[in-house]
Order: sequence, then C-alpha cells, then structure tokens
Amino acid sequence: MTRGRRWSAAVLAVALLAGGCTDEDANARFRPGAADLGDPYVPGAGNGGYDVAHYALRVRYDPASDRLTGQATVTVTATAGLSRFQFDLAGLTVDRVRVDGAPATHRRDGNELMVTPAHGLPAGKRFTVEVAYGGVPQPLPSGELGDGGFHATGDGAIALGQPESASTWYPVNDHPSDKATYDLEVTVPDGLAALSNGVPKGQSSKDGWTTWRWSEGSPMASYLTTLVIGNYRVSTGTHAGKPLVTAVAAGLPADGPAARALARTGEVADFLAERFGPYPFDAYGGIAVADERIRYALETQTRPVYGPGFFRGDRPNTEVVAHELAHQWFGDSVSLSRWSDIWLNEGFATYAEWLWNEHDGVRTVAQAFADRYAVTDWTKPTVDPGRAAMFGDAVYQRGALAVHALRRAVGDETFFRMLRGWLAERRNGTATTADFIGYAERIAGRSLRPLFDAWLVGAGAPALP
Ligand SMILES: [Zn+2]
Repeated sequence: MTRGRRWSAAVLAVALLAGGCTDEDANARFRPGAADLGDPYVPGAGNGGYDVAHYALRVRYDPASDRLTGQATVTVTATAGLSRFQFDLAGLTVDRVRVDGAPATHRRDGNELMVTPAHGLPAGKRFTVEVAYGGVPQPLPSGELGDGGFHATGDGAIALGQPESASTWYPVNDHPSDKATYDLEVTVPDGLAALSNGVPKGQSSKDGWTTWRWSEGSPMASYLTTLVIGNYRVSTGTHAGKPLVTAVAAGLPADGPAARALARTGEVADFLAERFGPYPFDAYGGIAVADERIRYALETQTRPVYGPGFFRGDRPNTEVVAHELAHQWFGDSVSLSRWSDIWLNEGFATYAEWLWNEHDGVRTVAQAFADRYAVTDWTKPTVDPGRAAMFGDAVYQRGALAVHALRRAVGDETFFRMLRGWLAERRNGTATTADFIGYAERIAGRSLRPLFDAWLVGAGAPALP
C-alpha cells in the first residue's frame, strides 16, 4: 500500500455528496491519471491517481512457443477523480479491458496501457480492472543488473529483475511505493514446475497442463514478484509452522553447493529473526536457477532467486542467503518510497552478511568493517547515488559502514532495539531515509544528523564513534 495517499472520510463524503452537479462539473472532477510517479531513477514507471490493493493473475505459458496468455484482475482505489488511468505493460497485446465488469476503451503508448472507463471514477472509489492479454514476453533492456523482466529459457522462463521487471508479464503499477497482495495461477505443460511468491495453494492437472497456485497475503512491491518455470527439483516442507518451498534447477547438482545453501534457509532466517524481530511473511523459500544470464540474486518476496554464479565453489554460499533473507525485513516488509533511498535495503542486507559471517565463524563484524573502511571511496554518496550507481559499493558497502557506525554510536542494546522497533512500526509499508533518521533519533533520544551526514554523504573518511 502507498503511505500518505489514503482518502479521509471527509473527502469521500464530499465526493459522494457532489451528485447534484451538472455534467460539466462532473467531467471537471475527472482527469487522466499521471503517466508515471516522478521517480527520476525509473522514468515512466508507476502511475498516478490510484492505489492497487490486489492483483489476481492467471497466466498460461508454453515453452514450445514462448507464448504467454494472461488474465489480470486488479483491485484498485482511485486517489483522484479519474477520466483515464494507466498501467505499465511492456510489449504483449491487450485483447480486452473491463472496469467493474463494463467494457473500457484502451490503447497503448510505449510501455503504457491507457484505460478509459465508460464513466469517470470518483476519488476514493474502489474498482476492479480486468485485462486479457498475451504474446511473447521480452526482457527490458538496460538494467544495471543486466536485463530485467521475462527471460525465456530452454525449458521454461524466469521473470525477475530490479528495479523493473513485472511489466513484462502483467499489467502493473510498477513502483515499490504501491504495494499490493497477490494471487497467482500459472498453467504450464505437465512435468514442469511453476514457482512464485508466497504460500503454495496446490496444483491441478488437466489435458496435459498443470496449474500451480500461489498466494502472497502481505503487501508486495512489484519488482519483488517472480515467476520461474522449468525443470526444477522442488522441495516442500514447513519451517516454524510456515510453508518452506525451495527449488533447485535440474541442471545443477542434486547435492551441490546451491542445494546445500538453500537447505539452510530456515536456519539463516531464524538467526536474522533473533536480531530483527519476527520473520515478516507467511512462507519461506528460495529458487536456484541455472541460467547464466541471471548474474545476481534477488530478494523476491518469501522466495529469493539465486543466479548460478553464487554457487561455483565447493562450499555452500550462505552469505548470499543471509543477504537475500535480510531483505525480507529490509526492502520487502519495509519498502522504498523512492529508489534514491535504496541503501535502506542494501546497506542493511550487507550488514546482515557481516552479522551472519561472524556467527558462522568466517570473520568478525569488526574485521569486515575495517576491511571495507580501508578501501571506501568517500566521494561517492550512499543516499541518492544516481541511477547508474544504484547498485554500487557506496550503496551496499558504505551503507553497511554507516549501519555499523550507528551501532557504535548508540550501543548494541539500543541499536538492535532500534532495528526491531523500526521494522515493527513500518511493517508492510514504505519509508525514506529521513523517516529512518527521525526514528533512530527518537529511540536514541538525541540528534544523529551529523553522524548520518558524515557516514552517508560526507566527502571524507569519518572517525568511528
Ligand atoms: Zn541486496
């Protein structure tokens, strides 16, 4: 859900009472929703004038033809009077759009789907949009992590990517500030797995096709959705009373480092929960893919996806598991309002690697800090690093240095109480750097502004408190 865009009862009442006006007045109340959310890191992404509550997606994918057909039912609340609104949708052909069951006109403009309902939608109105669509999905070019979006593989497909990927396989308000819950039904040829986020809701087969069902009941940012189809060894169990689903590509060794690292998912999640507070979601898991184009791991909600490069050695790489699972708290449960604050995700996830490595006997946090401090380029800012540097060392490593400086400044007891309180207060929401600093100062009972300025954006090496 988007914070700060809730309509008050008073505004709703005004909208409802305005029924006696002329047609001209009525038309004046409705304007086209904005074509993006004004985030300079992702021009064109997201859309204005509404807030999505839920996506119900039914997709069918045939690896033989690479063709996807989809039916999206999106539950939306207007946050302004809308004559027209837009979804992000890259490629694909839209066959039909309905708003509250009535046919709506639609057209495409680049990666936008513009929908004009038969009647204007008053501010505060909740409505459903059904979109029937299909085609051969494509990746989005130019992501700093490599192409994001829908990749056809030999045996299936992988839809994945940050900061954008969702619009390559369903119509979406593609910005983390508009989180929503999801239900997904994926139909694939019998014998293939179809993995996604959240709680598994069973499978059924008919006429050579199997439908896999998934449900994510906690609000999820669109870039944290994933769809992975293909030949996988799927393991379904429970951990701490919740479903745990891991999947390892059939092309990777059955007892290799990927399988052994993913097998420690529950243990790593428990370690982090002791420090960050209760695990925020209803399911656990992870997916190890074999496709070499996936050169990163991504914290897709409840079920991170790990590229093959993390598992080349003999030893299971649990550091990357700690990083992606830490994001379940930092990034997934508490999400970004804007991409320029991405250190709030990556600085804390990197610090979680340091905590885990200390616990796992690899090296101490103090050593990790010292090693990084020695090689840090202090001219590069951690906050608002620019789109080209959003996955750079200043965000990850300098961000983790700042987290450790905060810990040193306030002491261990206050630091971990601060993290748990922040995550509890902001759970399922979004936040900015200023929100975090304000919260930290409230818990510490003193100004921390000079500390954060020095460690996050100052141009010289600060002294450790
Ligand atoms: Zn990360």
